[in-house]
Amino acid sequence: MNAAPPVLVIVGASYAGAQLAASARDAGFDGRILLIGDETRAPYQRPPLSKGLLTGKTQVDALALKADDFYRESGIELLTGHRVTALDTAGRVVVLDDGRRLGYDWLALTTGARCRPLTLPGAHLAGVFELRSLGDALALDAAARNARRACVIGGGFIGLEVASALATRGLQVSVVEAAPRLLARAVTPELSDFVAALHRRHGVDIHCGQGVRALIGQADRVTAVELQDGESIACDLVVAGIGVLPNTGLAERAGIACANGILTDALGQTSAPRVLAAGDCAAFPNPYAADPAAPIRLESIQAANDLARAAASLVAGQPQPYAAVPWFWSDQYDAKLQMAGLMAADDEVVVRGDIASGRFSLFCLRGGRIASVHAVSRPADHMLGRKLVAARCAATPAQLADEGFDLKSLLAVQACNSCNAQ
Ligand SMILES: Cc1cc2nc3c(=O)[nH]c(=O)nc-3n(C[C@H](O)[C@H](O)[C@H](O)COP(=O)(O)OP(=O)(O)OC[C@H]3O[C@@H](n4cnc5c(N)ncnc54)[C@H](O)[C@@H]3O)c2cc1C
Repeated sequence: MNAAPPVLVIVGASYAGAQLAASARDAGFDGRILLIGDETRAPYQRPPLSKGLLTGKTQVDALALKADDFYRESGIELLTGHRVTALDTAGRVVVLDDGRRLGYDWLALTTGARCRPLTLPGAHLAGVFELRSLGDALALDAAARNARRACVIGGGFIGLEVASALATRGLQVSVVEAAPRLLARAVTPELSDFVAALHRRHGVDIHCGQGVRALIGQADRVTAVELQDGESIACDLVVAGIGVLPNTGLAERAGIACANGILTDALGQTSAPRVLAAGDCAAFPNPYAADPAAPIRLESIQAANDLARAAASLVAGQPQPYAAVPWFWSDQYDAKLQMAGLMAADDEVVVRGDIASGRFSLFCLRGGRIASVHAVSRPADHMLGRKLVAARCAATPAQLADEGFDLKSLLAVQACNSCNAQ
């Protein structure tokens, strides 16, 4: 008698889920793959939601993550518009919102993240938006057509991309950030200053070091944002970009270990047998972090895809742990920001190129080695930066600052040193 084929159930149909399904199949997993998502669409790209979709450069029908026939041709059963409401990890069963119970041999949680909710007085008013899904983006786009002034709460990547898109559309935009500088969590002060100046050049008012006290409305519609110092910013719409929270509820209720994310190892394994996690919902120790033992969450497509690939390799019986250099990008106006590696607060920062020209790179040295590279409109530096970070190349500030110095030579020296050390 033939044994039933193994079943891989994936909860959450976006980057991590789609990648895990595709990679498991590519790596030879020949069982059933069920990819279950609670959004009504097939997986789609999120980065354009704060970029091209808001400026009109990208159309909705160009957002699909995979070609229409990909799932059928790969033997992946895509079940959209359904939420998984419970897990039974002892019985290896997931429960759907329509009561169906599906058994699994492997379960992957790729439930992503949701916007951190605004909890201020007035947060319920009409004209207040958040941005995570295509529906959010279309609602914001429609509101922006009839608006003259927008206030963005939060000076992180998404808030600033929205500010850039709305300013490009001709709206008068203000950004309010509680931290003393923009993008404080992810980039160096030099890059924060550059980005603030970039926005100001495009007419955006930047308010850093300012909390919001309340949103003010008339007839249930937002009309102003009131800052902690009493200043009032008049606006027709508000976009809250104050970060995300990982979707860990399902895992937590099933007793799976979570701490600001579902805790995994470098293969995406959670504390429950045969249950994996990847993407924005997962926290795992990253070899490139300042503390490589501490679990961190990386909210990026690279991290979602790479941990999903690692988890898929385990499902397919050929485990290949996550080892990728973290990288991320952001487009604001005509500037392309590309970050490789992970910055730490006390890294030494070296500027390569002229910041005023709008094309430069910042190299962060940790213990004399290149730990991260932040390139602005210098894609070649970014691509090389990923290799320099991966090889943990040693460099001096003078070498990095000297545009005549060939950075590729650092890779050769590092390779030579590694060989000699063996
Ligand atoms: C506007 C915007 C711009 C961005 N720009 C960039 C960028 O430029 N570069 C970059 O690297 N990253 C960017 N990101 C981040 C990137 O999109 C995320 O890192 C990525 O989407 C993470 O993928 P994921 O699959 O882990 O989770 P998500 O994309 O969050 O998907 C999780 C899915 O699971 C579903 N789900 C959750 N719970 C359940 C359940 N119980 N049952 C069924 N389904 C469930 C959710 O509804 C969702 O569809 C951006 C994000 C946004 C919102």
